[in-house]
Amino acid sequence: MKILKVLLASSEVVPFAKTGGLADVAGSLPLALGELGVDIRVIMPKYASVKVKGNYATIGKGVKVYFVENEDWFDRKELYGDKFGDYRDNLDRFAFFSKSILERCQEEDFSPDIIHCNDWQTALVPAYLNTTHKYEPFFSKTHALFTIHNLAYQGLFPKDEFPKTGLDQALFNINYFEFYDKVNLMKAGIVYSDAISTVSPTYAKEILTKEFGCGLEGVLKRRQDILSGILNGIDYKAWNPETDSRIFRKYSAEDIDGKYVNKEMLQKEAALKVDRDIPMIGIISRLADQKGLDLVAKIIDDLLNMKVQFILLGTGDNRYHVLFEKMAKAHPKNTSINLKFDATLAQKIYAGCDLFLIPSRYEPCGLGQMISFKYGTIPVVRQTGGLKDSVREFDLKTGAGSGFTFTDYKPEALFGAIKKALSIYQNKDAWNSLVKSVMGLDFSWKASAKEYIKLYRKIVGA
Ligand code: ADP
Repeated sequence: MKILKVLLASSEVVPFAKTGGLADVAGSLPLALGELGVDIRVIMPKYASVKVKGNYATIGKGVKVYFVENEDWFDRKELYGDKFGDYRDNLDRFAFFSKSILERCQEEDFSPDIIHCNDWQTALVPAYLNTTHKYEPFFSKTHALFTIHNLAYQGLFPKDEFPKTGLDQALFNINYFEFYDKVNLMKAGIVYSDAISTVSPTYAKEILTKEFGCGLEGVLKRRQDILSGILNGIDYKAWNPETDSRIFRKYSAEDIDGKYVNKEMLQKEAALKVDRDIPMIGIISRLADQKGLDLVAKIIDDLLNMKVQFILLGTGDNRYHVLFEKMAKAHPKNTSINLKFDATLAQKIYAGCDLFLIPSRYEPCGLGQMISFKYGTIPVVRQTGGLKDSVREFDLKTGAGSGFTFTDYKPEALFGAIKKALSIYQNKDAWNSLVKSVMGLDFSWKASAKEYIKLYRKIVGA
């Protein structure tokens, strides 16, 4: 079979720049694709955080990552905005990035079968391929796949900025870019791509409904025949307690005592009481409405009056910063509130906690539950999107299942699931065998990378 040539375009890629799960995916899926024989390359902007000399680097076993350099647009500390909000020139920045992606293909003499675009930041690429570059021989065999990692972030801009795209003004209409009198890049990505995917099978269905469609459900329904959902995986070279040098002590499913050593060290570092028997509950999250933190706020006093410890790592909306700071003051003894982005502390929390909460309002895929599994930390999740596709309710009688789940977006439903988890936590034998069994689950890219290859082949018609 002909070797597939794929360029994955993303605004963030681990280990160079990350604000969320997109970076994890863009930094790990290509490694799995490369191992399966795809000629895969990656392209991203060169932000100030990219400490690399030159205009490319390699990751894994020689996967090339091209950097698009531009001092004005990308040489900044943050990716999309600062504490004052989104950068006002984001349309300039990502239109520039999208144009540069096509230019770079030509400079590198790499004519891809697929440009795999991700979210609004690269959504202009399919538009260019179908308009300004439509008759360019270099791209005559190039198709666009558009993956939606989060439909709620659409890349909306005032309509008078449309000329920044460099496209014919006539395209600012309801069939392409216009969305309630604004420019909507996500919409253009959906309209112009040869195929659309999202990051879990359940989210692929959910986004066709009014509740989850963020106003684009109608546009998506019209393209339903080319829409699919492929569950994200994680890279066990990056997330593995047996090899992780950022945690206090390495451990495996055969030696979960090592996990409890991590717990004690984390308790110590966080200035909490050092005691293995106190259940430790963690959250690592962007602090955004999506993540169900209002449910946490409503139960937290009752929860913290129980014998538990709560550790949070997150940054985001100011109102959640205020809320969690207040919580830390009210419960100084059993909370550790860390309002920042900190990759090392994140690993320590995944390793040291007993429970990990993801009560999301919606969740396209979610990676926290998969990382938690690998570290023997049991997720408590709301049944939505990728959480529904990856976490099964634990059954004490049969020992089946991998976590604790709830469905209604209500504080009492979340609290019920936590209380069930805490009661089973008291049964040490049952708990430890649950811990061991989730550590053995396989959420690597192996299966999902094959699904992507199938999709790529379908798109190119091979
Ligand atoms: P999203 O992409 O919506 O933020 P995901 O669950 O897909 O959510 O991915 C979140 C990723 O970002 C995970 O790898 C998680 O560990 C990480 N993360 C989130 N917040 C922080 C933080 N404050 N510090 C370190 N890592 C974080």
